[in-house]
Amino acid sequence: MIKMLLEWFLPQQCLLCDRVGIENPVCEACLHAIKPQPKILTLSPVLSVESCFEYHHGLQKLLHLYKFEKHTQLAPLFVQKLKETVDFSAQKYDLCIPVPAHENRIHSRGFYPVELLFKGFFLDVYSPCVQRCKDTPYLFELSALERSRLLKGAFRLHAGTSVQGKSIVVVDDIVTTGATLASMSELLYCEGARKVSALTLAYTQLKHMVENHP
Ligand SMILES: [Zn+2]
Repeated sequence: MIKMLLEWFLPQQCLLCDRVGIENPVCEACLHAIKPQPKILTLSPVLSVESCFEYHHGLQKLLHLYKFEKHTQLAPLFVQKLKETVDFSAQKYDLCIPVPAHENRIHSRGFYPVELLFKGFFLDVYSPCVQRCKDTPYLFELSALERSRLLKGAFRLHAGTSVQGKSIVVVDDIVTTGATLASMSELLYCEGARKVSALTLAYTQLKHMVENHP
């Protein structure tokens, strides 16, 4: 209650540079400084990921605030950045599937970050039909072997869902090791998907990924 009152009386402050008296959560100068650096990362011979921003500086801080401190007011800002960077009219898929969070995480956060980012772009084909059945820890610091062991059987299709013969885009906020996207695509190909691609807002620089500039 006190926080709400303070927010009402105090002028809005930029989440990145603390400039006050602005209309949006991030000031124009900071927003402008977040430049898209789109890349296509090849994760495997059958999976490439289109991604828009390197995960550093301003974007890293904002994405952290959005996901872990529930700054949901940042969602429209990310959506706008995606709109400026990705040609969604050229994205023709039968299905768009978000990387699912385990229910425990959704409950502890109270919202679903990936859905707010992408659902609006893929309305007709958006389908959260893959379920995470194992709550895996964050995978970034684990070895490739540990990651693949932890992700074994981590996902399954909801009963009654078919991906047979479909062209699918898997969406997530960030690609870090790529292990989660690889595991999802493996499941979807096993279930008969014709083609699986991935799209994320941000990426980290990883040595094992092959970069192709679009
Ligand atoms: Zn600022």
